[in-house]
Amino acid sequence: MKGFTTKIVHNDRQDAIEHGSLHKPIHANVAYGYDDARDLAAVFQGQQSGYSYGRQVNPTITALESKITVMEDGLSSVCFGTGMGAIGTTVFALLRAGDHIVSSAFLFGNTNSLLNTFTQMNIDVTFVDATSTEAVAEAVTERTRMVFVETIANPRTQVSDLEGIGTYCAQRGLVYVVDNTMTSPFLFQPKTVGASLVINSLTKYIGGHGNALGGAVTETGNFDWTSFPNIYPDYQGGDAAKWGITQIKKKGLRDFGASLGPEAAHHIAMGSETLALRVQRQSDNALAMCRFLRDHPQVKRVYYPGLEDHPQHQRAEKLFRSFGGLFSFELHSDVDLWEFLNRLKVIVKSSNLGDNRTLAIPVAHTIYYEMGPERRASMGIDESLIRISSGIEDSEDLLADLATGFE
Ligand SMILES: *Cc1c(COP(=O)(O)O)cnc(C)c1O
Repeated sequence: MKGFTTKIVHNDRQDAIEHGSLHKPIHANVAYGYDDARDLAAVFQGQQSGYSYGRQVNPTITALESKITVMEDGLSSVCFGTGMGAIGTTVFALLRAGDHIVSSAFLFGNTNSLLNTFTQMNIDVTFVDATSTEAVAEAVTERTRMVFVETIANPRTQVSDLEGIGTYCAQRGLVYVVDNTMTSPFLFQPKTVGASLVINSLTKYIGGHGNALGGAVTETGNFDWTSFPNIYPDYQGGDAAKWGITQIKKKGLRDFGASLGPEAAHHIAMGSETLALRVQRQSDNALAMCRFLRDHPQVKRVYYPGLEDHPQHQRAEKLFRSFGGLFSFELHSDVDLWEFLNRLKVIVKSSNLGDNRTLAIPVAHTIYYEMGPERRASMGIDESLIRISSGIEDSEDLLADLATGFE
């Protein structure tokens, strides 16, 4: 099996599934019993594979982790209750007071907030323009252990220099964490540019239906953990390429407990089967809407990596299979933002992204409201900026809806 979708759809059958069920069943279960107490002990001691307690392991979640590993072409994955659970736990599990992170300044807002919280615990963070490897390199110090970037930033769609930063991190022995949520493993596998760990919010494109929260971290096998000073002796056994994910699972998932539930894992696994179909259609719809908006007299600017005049268009074209479902645009000052949005009938006014429905949100007044007008201006967030997450509707209906918005 080679194709992306073939592998996802048939992955559960790599292991025997109970009663031949074609979907991995939902194991709504917390504890596991053993006939021989020695087996129970061996599982706890890691000498035998098996299930211990629902906070760390559950067969439904193990099946989803295996799917995500296949999607990312990685070695091993761990799932969490949300994308933020995955990000927070990864940083907590791997870094110590005194360490330093270099992060993209163009970040999902809650990740930005989280990294600022870490600075209160003596893990310093420097935010840089990650479209440039030089900016990352200039911020690196003796104490830097980790570089954190996203693929395509939300809402202004800057594309990090994913390849250049990967080469730099490999030379410097830095853990390179790439949040792949916006591209999803269908459009891009960060492993190919040297990522050590890949984050996905399963809530978005992988789950895809806006009906379950989840997150994941995948170990790619690119990083040599023997040179990383923060791995506890207990987790230094076995394949050194997996020490990082082992520590994330033990010190992170087990001790912090941001666990995914089996029902959510089932929803996400079902959704993931159509990831390629949905994201291709969402990318096509996004491009069609961006071309329409770019040519519209009431629109000031459109931000989408699929447009030829986007500053990182060539980089995106080289790295990504398509340009994704997220874009944003600014209105001319004489157009009323609220009236435009309220005339939309197909496109839903909502905050999520990666749903089957096309969603629109006025950025400055919602997800960037807390920052205030000055920070927004410094981040290039115009007061009229609208973010769109394209869905899988028929593109004629979306174009007609946008046209109605301007009437
Ligand atoms: C939504 C999102 C997250 C957080 O995911 P949740 O599942 O909502 O916690 C992290 N990173 C990016 C890029 C996101 O878009």
